[in-house]
Amino acid sequence: MWEDLEVAVEKIAPDKMKPKPPEDNLGFGAYFTDHMFVMTWSREQGWHDARICPYQDLKMDPAARVFHYGQAIFEGTKAYLGKDGQVYLFRAADNFERMNDSALRMCMPRLPVDKVVKALKALVYLDREWIPSGDGASLYIRPTMIAAEPALGVSPSSKYYFYIILSPVGSYYGQGFTPTRIYVSDEYVRAVKGGVGAAKVSGNYGASLLMSENAKKAGCNQVLWLDACEHKYVEEVGTSNIFFVIGDQLITPSLSGSILPGITRDSVIKIAESWGVEVVERKISIDEVLGASNSGSLKEAFGTGTAAVISPVGELLYKNTSYLINNGRPGELSSRLYKEICELQNGYREDPFKWVV
Ligand code: PMP
Repeated sequence: MWEDLEVAVEKIAPDKMKPKPPEDNLGFGAYFTDHMFVMTWSREQGWHDARICPYQDLKMDPAARVFHYGQAIFEGTKAYLGKDGQVYLFRAADNFERMNDSALRMCMPRLPVDKVVKALKALVYLDREWIPSGDGASLYIRPTMIAAEPALGVSPSSKYYFYIILSPVGSYYGQGFTPTRIYVSDEYVRAVKGGVGAAKVSGNYGASLLMSENAKKAGCNQVLWLDACEHKYVEEVGTSNIFFVIGDQLITPSLSGSILPGITRDSVIKIAESWGVEVVERKISIDEVLGASNSGSLKEAFGTGTAAVISPVGELLYKNTSYLINNGRPGELSSRLYKEICELQNGYREDPFKWVV
């Protein structure tokens, strides 16, 4: 059982180590490091067989429940190489806590957070030479849990795999801190009340692809998701939470049950509050946002998430009308928050929040 979960370590043979990719063209999630962490859960044994081993295929039965009923959840966090040569993790335990919330929603087993964090540290340490050193580059961490029991009845699996893989990723802002053009979706929705939008369930992302592709065809980078019921209230942008600076307030949609509680969202709220900014979590309608844009009180809009940290929104496209925000330039608060969070994540500054380990 996980109370005494031990982690076996099998290092890759030196002649099997993969060549490191060139750091100037990493992109996102295209390369994977030499090792992974994997463990198995069964009703009888709980979490067991925890291993750090060479990166390898999983042996899966084609009847495994994950392939049929989508019992799959995941997380995303990062490790950073500081200027001092130390390796930093940012709020990784919070990701595993959120994964436990997702697991509860999907009838999947809880993770032993402390032990998984320890295993993650050992894994990242083993593959530390894969952490890119360039500005804004990092080692992306992808924990995943899937239902592995070969059985076709629609019921919770009696067997799961949990694994962590690592991928060196380049700076999101290779082309500079560029604002995005966002398509407001009044047709497709991301998540419904009572559904799984507040959990990091794989199916949410599969279901979002068609609208994302439509947005790209319309010349936009991402989709602004509205609520599923009235198509009126703003929920999220792409795979990020959304913030607006209207007048002197920083406003973000309250966690409604269909919004993922982003860790960057929480960090932004706490940092902005520590600067004396008035942060308001409430329902905000697309009409209010566009009205504020027309009246000039909408100063900034930005998305928050692990991948990009802060992603300024320069333009909204809604029902064939375009609304420019801050003349399409990144706003002052967005830029300040981006700098502050990146410096915290890379260990460049004092961390009053105790988020960095
Ligand atoms: N919303 C969705 C749907 C996401 O996938 C993500 C990325 N995990 C976020 C918001 C931002 O969350 P975080 O700040 O924890 O990365």
